[in-house]
Amino acid sequence: MNSKTKNKSLYIHIPFCDHICKYCDFTKLFYNEKFAKPYVKKLLEEIDSYHINKVNTIYIGGGTPTSLNDEDFETLLKKVKSFLIDGGEFTVEANVENLTDSKLVLMDKYGVTRLSIGVESTQNSRLKEIGRSHTYEDAVRVVNKAKKHNFDSINVDLIYGFDGQSEEDLKNDLKNILALDTDHISIYSLIVSPGTVFYNVKYPVQSEDASRAFYEIILNTLREHGYKRYEISNFARNGKYSKHNIVYWKDEEYYGCGLGASGYIDGVRYENTKNLDNYLNGEFIDSKEVVSKEKDFTYYLLTNLRMEDGFLRKDFKDRFGIDFVDKYKEKIAPFMSSGDLIVTEKEVKLSDNGLLIMDYILLKII
Ligand code: SF4
Repeated sequence: MNSKTKNKSLYIHIPFCDHICKYCDFTKLFYNEKFAKPYVKKLLEEIDSYHINKVNTIYIGGGTPTSLNDEDFETLLKKVKSFLIDGGEFTVEANVENLTDSKLVLMDKYGVTRLSIGVESTQNSRLKEIGRSHTYEDAVRVVNKAKKHNFDSINVDLIYGFDGQSEEDLKNDLKNILALDTDHISIYSLIVSPGTVFYNVKYPVQSEDASRAFYEIILNTLREHGYKRYEISNFARNGKYSKHNIVYWKDEEYYGCGLGASGYIDGVRYENTKNLDNYLNGEFIDSKEVVSKEKDFTYYLLTNLRMEDGFLRKDFKDRFGIDFVDKYKEKIAPFMSSGDLIVTEKEVKLSDNGLLIMDYILLKII
C-alpha cells in the first residue's frame, strides 16, 4: 500500500471556547451559537471535499469541542464516526467545565475511545491566574465521572513553568495529577507566545535551567509511577499511547479540517484559514506547500526524534532510499560519541540527556 492509498488520520478543529486562557496560542474564539451552527455545517462540507474513505484515527481538538451544544456535537460525532475503521482510535478533547453527562453519553453512543481533559494545574489559585474557570475538585469529579463511560483511555493535560512556581509546587501538582489515576498524562512547559494575554503583560518566562530541572522531576516521578515517556511531553502506562499523535510524530499523512487546522496529504502540507468569515464562505485553505525532499528529511527528524524510541533505520531507508547514517555521518558523529544520539543496527534515538538538549542537536544536524 503506498502513501496515497494507505488509510490516513483525521484531525478536526473546533475553535470555540467558553473562556479565553491567558496563555492560549491556539486558534480560538468565544463560543457563540450564531456562529457555531454554521461552522459545523461548513466543517462537514470541508470534510466531504476530501472524499475520505476510511481513517485509522480521528482527533477532535480545539478550542473546546465540548463547548458545542449537544445538537451540533452529535451532528459532528455522527459524521466523522462513519469514516473510522473498526477498532480505530477516536479522541475528543474536553474542558472540565463543559464535559456534561449528555456529552459523555453522546461520546459513548458514537464510539469515542479516548478522552483528553484539560486539567492544566491542580492549584486553584493558579487555575484562576491563567484564566481557567474550573477547580481541581471539579477536575477530580469530572475525571471520575468519565471513567464510568466507555473510554479505552483518558488523558489529562498539565502545564508547568508558571511564575513563582517552586519545585515543591510542581511535586504537589504531580501528586495530584497522579491521584487522578489516568493511563495517559501530557505535560507541557508554559510558552508565552506573542498575541496572548501573558505576552502582553510580559509574564515572566521560566529560565532554561529551571525548566530543565522541572522536566527531570516530571520524568523521574512519572517513571517511578509506571508511566513510559513515549514522546517528550507524553507519558502513558499500559501501552495507552495516542495513536493519532504518533501519526504526527512519525511524520505520516493526515487530513486537517476546521479553522486554522493544518494537514499533510499526498506530499502537500496545507494550513487552513484562521479567519472565520473566510471559513464560513468556504475558503478553507490559506496556504499550501509541496514538501521538498530536504524539507521532508527535516520534518522527519524534527518529529521522529521527539519520541523516546526514535525511529527504525529501515523505515528511514524505505521512505528516503538512503541510510540515515550515510546521509548524516559527519553531523551526527559528535552526538554519537557523547552518547546523546544512540544509533544501533536497527534504530536511531536520543538518550535521556539527548532529549533534554534535543533542540540543540537538531539544529546541528538539519
Ligand atoms: S487553552 Fe484551550 S480552553 Fe483555553 S482558550 Fe485556549 S483553546 Fe480555549
